[in-house]
Amino acid sequence: MPPRLTVTQSEMRTFMECPHKWRLAYETRLSPHVDGFALTFGTAFHHGIHTMRSNGVPDYDGIQRIIDEHPRPDPSNRAAYSKCRAMVRAYDFLRDRNAKEHASELEFAYAFNRVNRLRGKIDLIAEKDDGSLWIVDYKTTTEQYTERVVPPLDIQACAYVWAGFKMHEAGALPRPPHGIRYEVIQKPTIRPKQVTATVFNTGYEIVGTKKDANDYLKTHRADGRPVEITTQETREETDEEYEARCLDWILEDLDGENPRYVTIERVFDAADLKTAEMQLRNLFAAIRRAQRGEYHVNTTHCRFCPFSRVCEWVNHFDDTETRDALIESAFLIRPERNPELAIEGEAA
Ligand code: SF4
Repeated sequence: MPPRLTVTQSEMRTFMECPHKWRLAYETRLSPHVDGFALTFGTAFHHGIHTMRSNGVPDYDGIQRIIDEHPRPDPSNRAAYSKCRAMVRAYDFLRDRNAKEHASELEFAYAFNRVNRLRGKIDLIAEKDDGSLWIVDYKTTTEQYTERVVPPLDIQACAYVWAGFKMHEAGALPRPPHGIRYEVIQKPTIRPKQVTATVFNTGYEIVGTKKDANDYLKTHRADGRPVEITTQETREETDEEYEARCLDWILEDLDGENPRYVTIERVFDAADLKTAEMQLRNLFAAIRRAQRGEYHVNTTHCRFCPFSRVCEWVNHFDDTETRDALIESAFLIRPERNPELAIEGEAA
């Protein structure tokens, strides 16, 4: 009997991106000294959404703590904090209030067969007015999300479909899931800027760009009122002003051509469960083969791969010493195969 294998959703995602990346992360057990900031940002955003849904108010201190724990220079952390707050506020503003929360951050762990097990977490199970249960997946994106058609079932969605039906079988859900709802929000690409505080002879102050001040002057002079600038001062935008601008940016074109918040729903049908089972079976088999050294390399993800500096497929090392020295300087070698399972006390 082969040894038992427990696979998590993030491990599956890594494998689908590049099996060699999976080998470096889970077989060689390399862990970057410092995780990428995108991971930290995603954790902070999910924490904000989860606490907002459970307590009615997002835990902004918690968001800040998660961001501050990442060793980046302070100014960029502050901008990231404002962006994250704006995204959580936008989400709170736009979410479907008719859908009740059935469960949030719902963890699952089920045997796929006698030797393979799947663990993961569902962001939210929402219940609509008609009683249907939906698996909700929050996604953050750095680029404009232009996909308007229902996406095909990727491996993560397969895990959700399969786990959702298992939960129903086990009595954890009163009904099988009706479908999956993706809620995609774009991370603001605008940066903090300098603003000009302008004081007029009326004593009125506006904060904005020079253009705002000139527009104001044009309008009010056109009204026949004498308006003159008495002082003008340029300073850094405050965190609150930047956050407000990020929120406006997200909400700007919701019903237009370039929305920055998109929801897409896919209703499950009987074929989806079969497809999910087949894809998961194939994935477990591919991981077992990769453990024996039979795998392919996918170089389309190299640009954002944390292992690109030490990957022998993209670097032509003359000797292994150079590579080992690079690994030693940038990576830890973990004792456990999967850190998520180690936290849960299940280091299989
Ligand atoms: S650098 Fe490219 S080929 Fe190497 S592990 Fe990463 S994604 Fe795979």
